[in-house]
Amino acid sequence: MTTVCWFRRDLRLTDHPALLSALEAARAGGLPGERLRAGARTDEVVALYVLDPTLWRTAGSPRLAYLAASLRALDARTGGRLVVRLGDPAVVVPEVVRTVAATSVHVSAATEPFGRRRDAAVDAALRAAGSSARLVATGSPYAVAPGRLTTRGGTPFQVFTPYRTAWLEHGWHSPAPAPGDVPWADLSSEPIRDVAPTVALPPAGEEAALDRWAAFVSDGLADYATERDRPDHDGTSALSAALRWGEVHPRTLLADLAAAERTGHGGPGATTFRSQLAWRDFHADTLWHHPDARTRSLRDVVLDDAWASGPGADAAFDAWARGRTGYPFVDAGMRQLASTGWMHNRVRMVTASFLVKDLHLPWQRGAAHFLDRLVDADIAQNQLNWQWVAGTGRDAAPFFRIFHPVTQGRRFDPDGAYVRRWVPELRDVPGGAVHEPWLLGLQAPANYPERMVDHAVERTVALADAAAARAARATEAT
Ligand SMILES: Cc1cc2nc3c(=O)[nH]c(=O)nc-3n(C[C@H](O)[C@H](O)[C@H](O)COP(=O)(O)OP(=O)(O)OC[C@H]3O[C@@H](n4cnc5c(N)ncnc54)[C@H](O)[C@@H]3O)c2cc1C
Repeated sequence: MTTVCWFRRDLRLTDHPALLSALEAARAGGLPGERLRAGARTDEVVALYVLDPTLWRTAGSPRLAYLAASLRALDARTGGRLVVRLGDPAVVVPEVVRTVAATSVHVSAATEPFGRRRDAAVDAALRAAGSSARLVATGSPYAVAPGRLTTRGGTPFQVFTPYRTAWLEHGWHSPAPAPGDVPWADLSSEPIRDVAPTVALPPAGEEAALDRWAAFVSDGLADYATERDRPDHDGTSALSAALRWGEVHPRTLLADLAAAERTGHGGPGATTFRSQLAWRDFHADTLWHHPDARTRSLRDVVLDDAWASGPGADAAFDAWARGRTGYPFVDAGMRQLASTGWMHNRVRMVTASFLVKDLHLPWQRGAAHFLDRLVDADIAQNQLNWQWVAGTGRDAAPFFRIFHPVTQGRRFDPDGAYVRRWVPELRDVPGGAVHEPWLLGLQAPANYPERMVDHAVERTVALADAAAARAARATEAT
């Protein structure tokens, strides 16, 4: 029997329950209860990737270039048997099923709005084509599948900390066993499209991800709890793109964290890292329950007319995006993003806060820019982190918590090394003074922009906007 393993956000072979399920169904001669069909090949699994033109049109080039590299790595892992097809999955998948007389199509469940709609359309298309093959979902890209956890009252969690408690209590499966030799079907494939990377990409693929993780566990994990906030140090795992494409599953990481703790090597780093993976699941859970959180604020914090608009707002957005705000920590982050397709988490928070609370632009504008530029761009993590910073999310930082672009820089980049690395105009400014070039007087580099706004003033404006919204809501309620 031939089955299809349709890879999407799970571009790996190890710890892959859907692949095991495809293999098992192929070996068992179909899903339990199915009859063997005449003419079907035996015991083969098609490794399918469908390049959806919708994704291809809308995703930014760093993300696509990384995807192309990751697909090449997966193709190599399958001995060149990855079958890439370009087209609408609702057309391509039934076509492949028909060609090989496949009995089932195995996937890791899609949980974000686009993927859920796509899978429903594919399942409907299989039925409409009269195929008995069904889409079989096993596992998801998360440790605990979105929607699985609820409060005692059966409602979705609103707040992260109780969610994490329930997440830890619920636990997760051990990593799935290795698939062994998979009898991959030999089908013609379209070439994996070349995407010229606009940024220097990290190595892609399962092996690179596992190597990076092993190096991090041995050299970075013990200090992660303190180092993770230092953009001037290399203190995080840099695994977000690998997790985004499923080159490694969080289950694998969680098992290794537990092993590190058992041998006394995890320290507080293991606890903190686990917590970050819980944030990842929490944001996916939020999007599961609120698909419209992709574009809509989960709560309104200022009145609609408080947001900046028009040519002035466009110019402000442009200065932010180009890293020309005159606030070195913000500019360093935006330039790191432009050069590498990645930005340190601490700086993502500060740059996002600056856009929303200093420039008074809606979070959706910044989120769209990040989605376009980030190599790890992920609809749940990006949109919900933006909502967290903007104060509009489920368990969001309150709107009045406004990141100070200078204090944050002085605290997390105390010697200014991060700023000097990304803002060459400031390379000759020594130490932490680099965070406030306007205090340098005549020594201030002439080619670095003036501060485009005064943070103290804009903070007051943001707080007044939020107060006005609260007052308007109170009036409405009376
Ligand atoms: C405004 C904003 C936008 C963001 N957009 C994205 C995005 O599109 N894609 C994305 O993967 N992450 C996003 N993040 C979360 C976080 O910044 C990145 O996951 C992290 O910087 C990736 O680097 P790392 O792998 O070295 O992280 P590490 O510190 O090594 O963390 C390990 C893993 O934990 C997860 N994680 C860490 N922090 C968070 C967090 N705050 N929320 C959710 N998961 C987290 C990630 O999967 C990460 O790879 C965003 C954060 C902010 C504030």
